[in-house]
Amino acid sequence: MPQTLAPYAVTEHNSRGRQFPEKPHRYRADFERDRDRIIHCAAFRRLEGKTQVFTTGLNDQYRTRMTHSIEVAQIGRTIARVLNLNESLTEAICLAHDLGHSPFGHAGEAVLNELTADVGGFEHNRQSLRIVDFLEHPYPAFAGLNLMYETRMALAKHQSPYDNPEGSAEAICLEGRIADVADRIAYNCHDLEDGLRSRLLNEEQLKGITLYEEACRTVGAERIDDIVIRRTRISKAILDYLAIDAIETSRQLLEKHQIQSLEDVYDCPVRLIDLSAEVEAKLRELERFLYTNLYYHPKIAGQAAAIRGWLTRLFEKYSARPELMPHYYQHMIAAEGLKRIVCDYVSGMTDRYAMTMQE
Ligand code: MG
Repeated sequence: MPQTLAPYAVTEHNSRGRQFPEKPHRYRADFERDRDRIIHCAAFRRLEGKTQVFTTGLNDQYRTRMTHSIEVAQIGRTIARVLNLNESLTEAICLAHDLGHSPFGHAGEAVLNELTADVGGFEHNRQSLRIVDFLEHPYPAFAGLNLMYETRMALAKHQSPYDNPEGSAEAICLEGRIADVADRIAYNCHDLEDGLRSRLLNEEQLKGITLYEEACRTVGAERIDDIVIRRTRISKAILDYLAIDAIETSRQLLEKHQIQSLEDVYDCPVRLIDLSAEVEAKLRELERFLYTNLYYHPKIAGQAAAIRGWLTRLFEKYSARPELMPHYYQHMIAAEGLKRIVCDYVSGMTDRYAMTMQE
């Protein structure tokens, strides 16, 4: 039995559709096609080689942007399914939400933003939209993946504490909001786990962090001798706790604000997919801990100077000799400007490729 969607879910019927009309597919719905186009695009494949927190290649167990995106999609799909929202749309947004990230994570993004300051800067959400709308080119008749309007809007407006999306004139669907919450749940839990794996964090430091201590009690951490199993159980317990809270809080919010249709969603000034105030406070405590002790750990933050050097050198190299870029990029220079195209090319690189191309 196909699932009955809530009246406020985005569907093929209430969607604003695609920029370039296409014939319906015999077997796949429009938002399933969006998801599939994202999985099959080159920028998605390159997420495998892009830093989440730890530079790729140091340890094969750490999250990459790709495994992060898959974890976000898993959490997002669960939340969407339980709330009777559009699961395929949620999955598409989650899988695409980090497509625009440069190599070397947020440190890389900051450098590219400075290098392009005079032509509008670089910001990964905006770049995600640019990738799906313009840089991917699998079709002869138009640039981009020709995704559904709601998928595109959610990418343009994807928000997390790091993010800095452009103005908020356009409304965002609930499925897009799920991606925001799922992203936050995913990165806090897996960064905690990878932080412990890397030994930049230790269990002693985490004493006093409420979410961590509660999860230790939930899983009976003191009876689990193996640290690998222990930290996995703890991080999964936190994930489950946050996802359940997001589901139950959002359900209450939708009821409280009497949301009956997609128009109600767009008109409602309140965030309808959210954590409870109590859990939000606990998550902020963990986030503050991770900022101070992991993201700003000297071993992580200390790479910023080297990353600045690598990306600046690449930027100068391709600006001086654009003929070294693939033809596809060279052809766009006349219309888009040299700096923008060099930024597109360099920001699309994996960590590995950016290192190799230093020569
Ligand atoms: Mg993310």
